[in-house]
Amino acid sequence: MSQAIVLTQEHGNVHAAIRRIDDSELPPADTRLRIEFSSLNYKDALAIARGDPVVRAWPMVPGIDGAGVVEHSEHPALRVGDRVILNGWGVGEKHWGCLAQKASVMGDWLVPLPPGLDSRSAMALGTAGYTAMLCVMKLEDHGLRPSDGEVLVTGAAGGVGSVAIALLAGRGFKVVASTGRPEEAAYLKAMGACDVIDRASLSSPGKPLGRERWAGVVDSVGSHTLANACATTRYGGVVAACGLAQGMDLSQTVAPFILRGVTLAGVDSVMAPRELRLRAWSRLADEMDRALLASLSQTIGLRDAIGLAPQLLAGKVRGRVVVNVHE
Ligand code: NDP
Repeated sequence: MSQAIVLTQEHGNVHAAIRRIDDSELPPADTRLRIEFSSLNYKDALAIARGDPVVRAWPMVPGIDGAGVVEHSEHPALRVGDRVILNGWGVGEKHWGCLAQKASVMGDWLVPLPPGLDSRSAMALGTAGYTAMLCVMKLEDHGLRPSDGEVLVTGAAGGVGSVAIALLAGRGFKVVASTGRPEEAAYLKAMGACDVIDRASLSSPGKPLGRERWAGVVDSVGSHTLANACATTRYGGVVAACGLAQGMDLSQTVAPFILRGVTLAGVDSVMAPRELRLRAWSRLADEMDRALLASLSQTIGLRDAIGLAPQLLAGKVRGRVVVNVHE
């Protein structure tokens, strides 16, 4: 028997509770993991607090990411005792996830824990950190270099934002953090931001083009913020879009793309190919400053994750939340 958060739905309302699960109840898959740590991502908070649109099968064990040890596997590349990381692939959405002490998953979904990271630090990064690295790689793939100018990070005090600032600053970029929490300015500067701006300057409907400022952007907010970020990106700049914390909508003109050659580059972590995941995790292990990682993350127990979900959705949680599934 093991414990998990189990989500059920009744009359459109989501109920989240800790339940004991027998191994025989786990979904069919080729590999069983003993999860050591999971984390609370924006998507997990949506699943726990609202269900829709994240949860696509009921009952559901949430948890889009986890780090742990292979307990049993029929996958040819895996051995009992291997330490692995799981991100995405619909886990915690349509396949039972990692806010649980055990998970039954496909071996193809797993990447090895890279040397230099332990399970806890892997989940301090988690899907948000891995996505932040995918965004950094996307900017670099488009040729962005530190000498090109300022890089804007939106949703700065959140998980993706905090890790993106640390990674970009670590590579020598001049990072400007956009936040709705001015009280977090010292934290954002400690992460490596050289300037902090009020997110209100980006969050309302704006003009098709504004003063050119950003050489690159990491946006986890979407909506008007993303439109305004594109409209103020410099000639030839690149905007990596990965999130929707403000909204899923995007209303803008084509002016930044056809008059300034701006690239709007989408970033998806869920179905990203294995090769890209391996590169992202290897770079995270090499490049993420461990002291910053410790200071941007807090650790909670499985039950606490249920209570914290609404606060995370309200934008009141700073940085990353690691979940010790055995507490
Ligand atoms: P967090 O909740 O940790 O951070 C989101 C941040 O966005 C908040 O901390 C806040 O930052 C800002 N924010 C919240 N509400 C608003 C609002 N109404 N208007 C403007 N800004 C707002 O979430 P994550 O960092 O984990 O995820 C961020 C987004 O990225 C989510 O939408 C998530 O779904 C998405 N995501 C996408 C992935 C992909 O594969 N494409 C993978 C991982 C995440 P501040 O207080 O500093 O303003």
